[in-house]
Amino acid sequence: MVTHYKCPNCGSDMAFDAASGKLSCPNCGRQDDIETFPEENIQQKFAPEEAKEYHCENCGAVLLTEAETTATHCSFCGAPVILADRLTGDLAPAKVIPFTISKDEAVAAFKKWTKNGRLTPRGFMNGDRIKKMTGMYVPFWLYDIDGKAEVAAIGTRMRTYQQGDTVITETDFYDVYREIDLSYLKVPADASEKMDDELMDKLEPYDYSDLKDFRMPYLAGFLAEKYDFDEDALFSRIESKIVPYIDTYIGSTISGYSTVSYTNKQINANKKKVYYTLFPVWMVYYDFENKEHTFAMNGQTGKVVGKPPISGGKVAAWFMGIAVSTFAVLKTISYLVGGVLW
Ligand SMILES: [Zn+2]
Ligand SMILES: [Zn+2]
Repeated sequence: MVTHYKCPNCGSDMAFDAASGKLSCPNCGRQDDIETFPEENIQQKFAPEEAKEYHCENCGAVLLTEAETTATHCSFCGAPVILADRLTGDLAPAKVIPFTISKDEAVAAFKKWTKNGRLTPRGFMNGDRIKKMTGMYVPFWLYDIDGKAEVAAIGTRMRTYQQGDTVITETDFYDVYREIDLSYLKVPADASEKMDDELMDKLEPYDYSDLKDFRMPYLAGFLAEKYDFDEDALFSRIESKIVPYIDTYIGSTISGYSTVSYTNKQINANKKKVYYTLFPVWMVYYDFENKEHTFAMNGQTGKVVGKPPISGGKVAAWFMGIAVSTFAVLKTISYLVGGVLW
């Protein structure tokens, strides 16, 4: 089933506008609230079950999609289209964080990130690299976790004092026992196979105060995908993500000892509730000098992750005539590269 949002004024295909949070018409500029968009302007076409192809309702072209795609553009006329049957039933997202960073803002950030080409190799800023910047809703699972941690340890306290000519060290041993109730809300894990886990983790945190109940118009004009991994498949990733926090917390409850050695530590984490959620990400993938580079930006907060390519020659030229120590140069370069390095 292919869905278009048709402008009630002029009939053009509307797209979600990150700046206003509304459906916006690229032709006449009309804007509509997502909640109150008139039903009669939602154009939907049920495809026969056996049909493997989707067609753009605007121009009739075949939509080129991968099996995971849930929202895309018609590659022929550019109209935003949503593949609604991939967003229903088990595949219906519960929540979404809408884009608040527009494409123009993302492009400006990309340029700034490469320092307007000053330190990047010749040719890097040319071509159509920026045009390929893609706004994408990435599927995540958010887990509400509860559980229990049970810890036994032996703590020691040492006391040293002098008696005559003798230094005496007295050690007291204590049995330490802690039972801790665990509760974590909305711990995220990305559920898309093609997205790099480490990259997605680095885009966090997202601000959950913008978490909205899912509605399809949020996807209009963006790419969106459905999950590859279900909520059970990702739970071990969630456990390994929260264990360090639990360890730190347990440590903070056991203080005042000279040494602590654990004799038993049991952590049982259970998922209480799981939310299928879409998070906004701006992406540019590009090859440069046979290396693949990634620029990724949190589409809500603007946090940038990635590492711009640096031309050794240009860096040398840039620092020519500046009398600085090698140490300072290195520091400056890492500062200029900016973003989160990984
Ligand atoms: Zn219009
Ligand atoms: Zn089309």
